[in-house]
Amino acid sequence: MGRRVALATIGFCLVFTVLAVALRTAWAWQASVAAMRQELAQVDQVFNRTLAKAIWEMDRDALYTHLASAGQVTSVGRVTLKIRQANRSGEMLEHRQPGWSHSPRMPSLLRTLSYEPYAGAKEDVGELTLEGDERVLLERLRDEVASIVITQLIQSVLLAGLIMWMFNRSVTVHVQHIARHLAALSPETLDDRLVLARRPSRPDELSKLEAGVNDLQGSLRDYLARQRRDERELAAHRDRLAELVHDRTRELEEANARLQTLSRSDPLTSLPNRRHFDELKDVEMRRSHRSGQPLSLLLCDVDFFKRYNDAYGHACGDRCLQAVAQVLRESFVRAGELPARIGGEEFAVLLPGVDLAGALRLGERLCKAVEARAIPHKASEVAPHVSLSVGVAQFDAVTMERFDALLQQADEALYRAKSGGRNRVAS
Ligand code: GH3
Ligand code: MG
Ligand code: MG
Repeated sequence: MGRRVALATIGFCLVFTVLAVALRTAWAWQASVAAMRQELAQVDQVFNRTLAKAIWEMDRDALYTHLASAGQVTSVGRVTLKIRQANRSGEMLEHRQPGWSHSPRMPSLLRTLSYEPYAGAKEDVGELTLEGDERVLLERLRDEVASIVITQLIQSVLLAGLIMWMFNRSVTVHVQHIARHLAALSPETLDDRLVLARRPSRPDELSKLEAGVNDLQGSLRDYLARQRRDERELAAHRDRLAELVHDRTRELEEANARLQTLSRSDPLTSLPNRRHFDELKDVEMRRSHRSGQPLSLLLCDVDFFKRYNDAYGHACGDRCLQAVAQVLRESFVRAGELPARIGGEEFAVLLPGVDLAGALRLGERLCKAVEARAIPHKASEVAPHVSLSVGVAQFDAVTMERFDALLQQADEALYRAKSGGRNRVAS
């Protein structure tokens, strides 16, 4: 920047120098011409009387001597003397500097020479012409122009140097400092204020720039601090939210699991309910269909349970059902075996991988287990304790398209167990 300003200054100074030189040269030329005219007038003053006298007296020697003397004056290029003679054409005498040539720009002086030998007898005797020597004028002008050029150049160079030095000292140095400060700026260095190495009280554009940079750093620092604080709070909120979502999800999953269990288990006996049974029966039927493994079903019904209720009360009836359910739970613990409560005092047991003979055996074992619990039943016609009738059927993939067919067959078997005397197993 300083270099550009200096170059512009030098360029301006050069143009100014050329104009100044041209102007001052024109003035010097005019002054020199005027000075030469003055000199010619002085020469005229000095010689016109002596020349007029020499003509009058016809003193040739004096005439030549004076003419030569006048011609010797530096600024005179040519002296011409025209002598008037009565009845004859005038005589012409001339003295010129060697190498002189006529120039219309040079001043010249024409003087009529008069002589007055006695008072009242004045007579014109000739004409004196003085012409300036251009070479003298040019030589003087050359020296003048040289001094003008030198002084103007020195003046211009000094001015350009001064401007460059001042600009560099009061602008460039500080602008470079500001540029370095801004380049080194980072979020960690926002506290480092910009301080220019100059008198602080000077209220100018640089002071405003310095204050502006420092204000901007301050605002930026505050903004970043706010942003970091907001980010921390946001992260904390996010963590809390994630924890809450996690807790709520876990609670929801647990509630869901509980709901699932509740919706698929019987509230009185805690055995799988009809719904659960219906879900699994289809699964097991498809599995058996696919794998060819046998699948059997026990349908169990408490004998004379209406009478039990009547004899012991409904609450006792409930407890009786719970006890029977417990026997069922303990009797069928193998993987896949599913005892369920499918009606009031009716239970079903799904037995995957068990054929009809096996199912009959398990039915017998169940009846014995219930018998072993020896729950008194004074109103029963078949035993002094609570007993079960069990219908058994095996799934047949060829004849049974749907599970209902198996259920129906087991129901028919149960009917046979009932009509055959109860407290027994039938297939
Ligand atoms: P059967 O030997 O022919 O099966 O005779 P039953 O009396 O057992 O058969 P019935 O279908 O006539 O009676 C079933 C009774 O079971 C009627 C009903 O009051 C009783 N019962 C059904 N569900 C419940 C229950 O949840 N709790 C109690 N305490 N009794 C129930
Ligand atoms: Mg019944
Ligand atoms: Mg019954």
